[in-house]
Amino acid sequence: MTKRVLVKFSGEALAGKEGYGIDTKILKFIANEIKALVDAGMEVAIVVGGGNIIRGVSAAADGIIKRTSGDYMGMLATVINGVAIQEALEHIGLEARLQSAIDMHEIGEAFIVRRARRHLEKGRVVIFAGGTGNPYFTTDTAATLRASEIEAEMLIKATKVDGVYDRDPNKFDDAVKLDTLSYEQALTKDIKVMDDTSIALARENSLPIVVCNMFEEGNLLAIMKGDMSLCSIVK
Ligand code: UDP
Repeated sequence: MTKRVLVKFSGEALAGKEGYGIDTKILKFIANEIKALVDAGMEVAIVVGGGNIIRGVSAAADGIIKRTSGDYMGMLATVINGVAIQEALEHIGLEARLQSAIDMHEIGEAFIVRRARRHLEKGRVVIFAGGTGNPYFTTDTAATLRASEIEAEMLIKATKVDGVYDRDPNKFDDAVKLDTLSYEQALTKDIKVMDDTSIALARENSLPIVVCNMFEEGNLLAIMKGDMSLCSIVK
């Protein structure tokens, strides 16, 4: 049976050392990691964040921009990142289709789940941009939602860290990495995997969430082949 996976990349990850914008070297790296999955016969969907450009909460921090408008700005940021990822994938010979939760016919298709499934079956990488299309949500929730809709067998959250810790490893030297944790554990205060909305949705749909270091070359493919040594899994 073909394995179907959704990989979530944060917007920040695209920024590289600059901390802002889009680093094409990182785009190229991501595209190659995705290609390894496609070449192995897997069906791959991607959700990308927008934090390298703008986040609703920060945009609205001083009250000039309303939260809802800030969130729409954030959703537009994910479309910018989605276009960039689509280009990087096509640059190395993959077929890719961008679907946006906010209609933008000139830039990408509208999100239609049946169409997305069809693209995946044909070996195309589908990039879901625009988040959920609603303010007050995150792209992590969009990733969980889309993964559930396309019936992906897992959601991989590609991050800068190699898994989930029992407390913030940047603050505590004795923080311990957790290899496996339950959805209930993931919902506890000290553990930061994804926001509670995403976790609750994943639990409801029995969708496993794998948190891994995206910069470890070959890690996505290893995970899909069952090697969970360089990640944490919430199930
Ligand atoms: N956003 C939203 N609804 C969604 C997804 C995203 O309003 O369904 C907005 C929100 O303002 C968020 C921004 O888009 O801050 C960028 O997404 P996110 O912060 O999740 O990106 P990441 O942290 O993954 O880069």
